Amino acid sequence: MCPGGLIVPSATAPGEIVVNGMSMSRRDSPFANSGMVTSVEPEDLAPWAKYSVFAAMELQAEVEQRLFAAGDGSQKGPALRLPDFIAGKMSKDLSPSSYIPGLYPAPIHELLPGFIYKRLREGLADFGRQMRGFLTAEANVVATESRTSSPVRIPRDPATLMHPEMEGLFPCGEGAGYAGGIISAAMDGQNVARAAGFGDWLIGDWWIG
Ligand SMILES: Cc1cc2nc3c(=O)[nH]c(=O)nc-3n(C[C@H](O)[C@H](O)[C@H](O)COP(=O)(O)OP(=O)(O)OC[C@H]3O[C@@H](n4cnc5c(N)ncnc54)[C@H](O)[C@@H]3O)c2cc1C
Repeated sequence: MCPGGLIVPSATAPGEIVVNGMSMSRRDSPFANSGMVTSVEPEDLAPWAKYSVFAAMELQAEVEQRLFAAGDGSQKGPALRLPDFIAGKMSKDLSPSSYIPGLYPAPIHELLPGFIYKRLREGLADFGRQMRGFLTAEANVVATESRTSSPVRIPRDPATLMHPEMEGLFPCGEGAGYAGGIISAAMDGQNVARAAGFGDWLIGDWWIG
């Protein structure tokens, strides 16, 4: 969760909507944002199986492009108030937001693939049961933070952490499909640095630490 931060446009190509969240160093915006992440399982990818190893990439692109097509051609973010998202209905209006291009009410419960919407809805409802005040109409759900982890994974040997066919190549971190955030990327980096023969003295204080 990013307190005192912003939701920012993060698309990398025309014709797609991607958002991400960050804090400012002084944590001094009046908004907080959280990326709510759900898993995508191999069996979910059956409709994209013809794209082989790029199946999840195609799914990602399709979702981002569908969200763009629902809008007016700008980077305005499709959104719903949180209780409406869970109930699967349109919002008449939205809460104020830090997202500079602006938000508009859109049926994101229908625009997201059903299996993603269902998991998000159940997870968010569960948060509401566990944390009083979480399920508030002051919160917007903005679609979508679709770049949390890589949709492809470069293979590597679990013991050597090296590519099985290219000696000396150590796939590592988010882009290679082994992390989905700052901490998991740092931990994977440490493991790979050790596997590549760098000692802990190099990893500890002045190289990674
Ligand atoms: C706006 C935003 C907000 C985020 N907020 C959070 C958050 O709150 N919490 C969280 O856990 N994660 C967050 N993340 C995700 C987090 O930043 C990444 O998961 C993490 O940085 C991945 O680390 P990495 O080392 O695997 O990859 P990167 O940090 O992307 O490092 C890859 C490096 O490789 C370099 N590179 C690329 N190609 C080449 C090349 N050909 N030759 C040489 N160098 C190359 C790049 O320049 C880069 O420095 C956020 C990401 C963004 C964009």
